[in-house]
Amino acid sequence: MLGPVLLAASRSDRIHRIVSRAPVTRPVVDRFIAGNGLPEALEVVDALTADGIEVTLDHLGEDITDAAQARRNRDAYLALLDALGGKGLGGRAEVSVKLSAFGQGLPGGHDLALAGARRVCEAAAAIGTTVTLDMEDHTTVDSTLAILAELRRDFPRTGAVLQAYLSRTEDDARALAVEGSRVRLVKGAYKEPASVAYQSKRDVDLAYARCLRILMAGDGYPMIGSHDPRMIELALRLAERYGRSPDTYEFQMLYGIRDAEQRRLAAAGRRIRAYVPYGADWYGYFMRRLAERPANLAFFLRSFTTR
Ligand code: FAD
Repeated sequence: MLGPVLLAASRSDRIHRIVSRAPVTRPVVDRFIAGNGLPEALEVVDALTADGIEVTLDHLGEDITDAAQARRNRDAYLALLDALGGKGLGGRAEVSVKLSAFGQGLPGGHDLALAGARRVCEAAAAIGTTVTLDMEDHTTVDSTLAILAELRRDFPRTGAVLQAYLSRTEDDARALAVEGSRVRLVKGAYKEPASVAYQSKRDVDLAYARCLRILMAGDGYPMIGSHDPRMIELALRLAERYGRSPDTYEFQMLYGIRDAEQRRLAAAGRRIRAYVPYGADWYGYFMRRLAERPANLAFFLRSFTTR
């Protein structure tokens, strides 16, 4: 029941100020965010890749309000890719981009975001890696999928995220289950109305299973973005049913969530990638993590009482 309240709070400036200034916040944030800057994020990347876990890095900075911020966010990704290339990590590290951080929500934002993402795709290709476009609230899906189609003409490995809670997603999954297409399937993390999204956990889980079957049966490269043991088990069964070898799909989990399971999958020879967010603009991402799991919220609240 608290989930929708926290999701609403994730877009409130007033609550943002209160949460950011609370002295107990930082240690809890550190569980989910790999530091404020690139050096800390690269340390996390080193530790994960040493354990056989690949990474996708997200420089936090969603929902910006002017074009200068869009340029700064783009430049942060260029610096990130430069650093990953310098460490020879192009084969094991990719980047995830929220198009709202590149100006998608501004007037003329579609073209602005496309230009920024294109520049980042070029830099990624130059070090032998690629970009995945995160998916934000439902009003951005058409624009994001159109940008994906544009980018894939020149950078065919550019990936997209599909959110199983949206009722349109089975159709999108069918359209994207094609040769060369990389799709991360997630349940969905935003507050969406019943007119476009399933509302109950059971319906979302059933939709996830249907979309997963479409992607695993198709010709693309599915990326199973979930911590849910049932979905991981289902993916393994579907891989067997459709004769997929372990290098034709991968699991993805968020940094700081089910770390032991991430290491277990890597040790079992599965491809597993951790989504590693870093940067000072952590508020929206952090609040979505609190909203999706009571245990995460309890961890945050406990830190107030155990100081
Ligand atoms: P849930 O339904 O939250 O949980 C199911 C089960 O998983 C739980 O019962 C429990 O057994 C296990 N579990 C979940 N969390 C934990 C935990 N903290 N500790 C232990 N067990 C746990 N959303 C978007 O809207 N857009 C995106 O672009 C996006 N990108 C993502 C990228 C990645 C790599 C991942 C993993 C998620 C992403 N998400 C994104 C978030 C996603 O939509 C979900 O909100 C989030 O993954 C929670 O859903 P779940 O599938 O893990 O299962």
